[in-house]
Formats: sequence, C-alpha cells, structure tokens
Amino acid sequence: MLRGNFHTHTIFCDGRNTAQEMAERAVEIGFTHLGFSGHMDSEIRMELKEYNKEISRLQKTFRGRLDILRGAELDVLFQPRDEEEAGLLEQMEYLIGSVHYVQGADGNFFAVDDTAERLTEGCREHFGGDYYRLARAYYDLEAQVCDRLHCTFIGHFDLITRFNDDLHYLDESDPRYYGPALEAMEYLISKDIPFEINCGAYNRGRKAELYPNRFLLKNLQEFGGELLINSDAHQKELLDGGFDHAVRTAIDCGFTHTNFLEHGPDGKIVFRQVPLDGELFS
Ligand SMILES: [Zn+2]
Ligand SMILES: [Zn+2]
Repeated sequence: MLRGNFHTHTIFCDGRNTAQEMAERAVEIGFTHLGFSGHMDSEIRMELKEYNKEISRLQKTFRGRLDILRGAELDVLFQPRDEEEAGLLEQMEYLIGSVHYVQGADGNFFAVDDTAERLTEGCREHFGGDYYRLARAYYDLEAQVCDRLHCTFIGHFDLITRFNDDLHYLDESDPRYYGPALEAMEYLISKDIPFEINCGAYNRGRKAELYPNRFLLKNLQEFGGELLINSDAHQKELLDGGFDHAVRTAIDCGFTHTNFLEHGPDGKIVFRQVPLDGELFS
C-alpha cells in the first residue's frame, strides 16, 4: 500500500480525532509520511498558533518513525483576518489549494460541497439554476488557486460534482461541463503544480468516483500532470481509505508514479516520486 497521506484533518478543524491519534494510527498501519492539512476557509478556520505548536511537538515525538509535515488546506477565497494569522500561515510547510465556495455577482458566496440544499439554493439564486454557468464560475476560481494561494498541490479538482451521483445536475461528458474543467487543468499544469487524487467522498460512500473523475484523470496524464494520492481523512480509520482503488485507477489512466512530500536534507519540503506498481498492493 501507499505509506503516506498529505490531506489529513483533525479536531483543529472538522476532523474527529486529535493530531496525535492520527499520527499514532499512521505508524500502526505502516506509514512513513503524514501531512496535516487543516482547513482555512470562509467558515472553518483553525487557531493556527495552537495548531503549529502541536504539529511541531508531534514532529519531534515521531522523529525517525514518521515524517510529519505541517500544512493547511486553503480555500481560494480565504482571507487572513490579520497580519498575525497571515504570518502564521506563512510558516506552513505546504499548502493545498482548494475551491469549496463559489461567489455570486453580489459578492456573496455559497458552499458547493456542504449540503445539496445549499448547492441547489446557491445555484438558483446566483446562476439562475444553470449548473453549467455555475461549473464555469467554479473552474474559473479553480484556475486561480495557484496564483492566489501559491499552493503546493491542487485539492479535489472537481468537487463541484459532489452531489452529482444523486442529483444529476451536470452531465460530466458534456463539453459545457468538461470544457472549462480542462481549460483550468491545462492552465494549472502550465504552472507545474501537481493534482491530488482525493478519496474523501469515495471513502464516505457519498460518491462512486474519486476526485478528479476518470475522464479528467486521463486528461491530466495526457497533459503530463503530476499526482499525489490522498484520503482527505477526517477520522483515523480512513487514513489510507480508498488507496487501493486510487492506485488502480491511476495505473488504468496511464500514470506510472505518484508523489510524496517529505523533508529534504536541508529541512525544506521536496517531492519524491513513488512508483505505482504491484509492490503497492503487498
Ligand atoms: Zn476540501
Ligand atoms: Zn480536506
């Protein structure tokens, strides 16, 4: 199996377990790498001082057994509340760039992944119920994550499809949907930023597919994009949830390796290629 995860939530945001419980579980299941990535967005924000202190403590406690990385999952619309918070964010070792909210013309925003009701209501109010216009607005924001956030990799690229299995509001094979998605993808690849395969919704049984869907993943591979495979775990039992499925899917889509983040010899975070082959299933 893959022995690392770089998209991990704890009770510092909306996760169920403490950071220590997550790290202990990681060691238990044979992980060598664990990246914490608490939410910083318009509705959930961590107390960064406490978070940084605790993750630094765990880095020391687990040194030699588990390479722990201190990161955050930033939403593209996130604004630090003051200079102190902005400064603490700069101390993060890596950042995930995600889009969870879309803004209407009046500047108000709504979550695309919270509840189906919020999504439906937001789309009706701000986009006249036209989900293809909403998808265009979503991918316009997605294209900006790298420039706005200077992030390390892209989180759940097509989160806009969060409720699509149930509600069928977008035909994902319609060019009106995938056109803007591919434009955003090409632009982000031109910035040399990797994409994650995110197993979050798949793990919680809320979606049959991973993010990004297979069609987008194939395109990512053809465009020469790079991958990380992450569980988006909100509880320790799901730390490696969906990894086998994600690895098989990545191989099916033509990928021959994924990437880990780790501390390089000078302490800075570097990418390491991890081959995708049979060994991962042992
Ligand atoms: Zn997210
Ligand atoms: Zn997340």
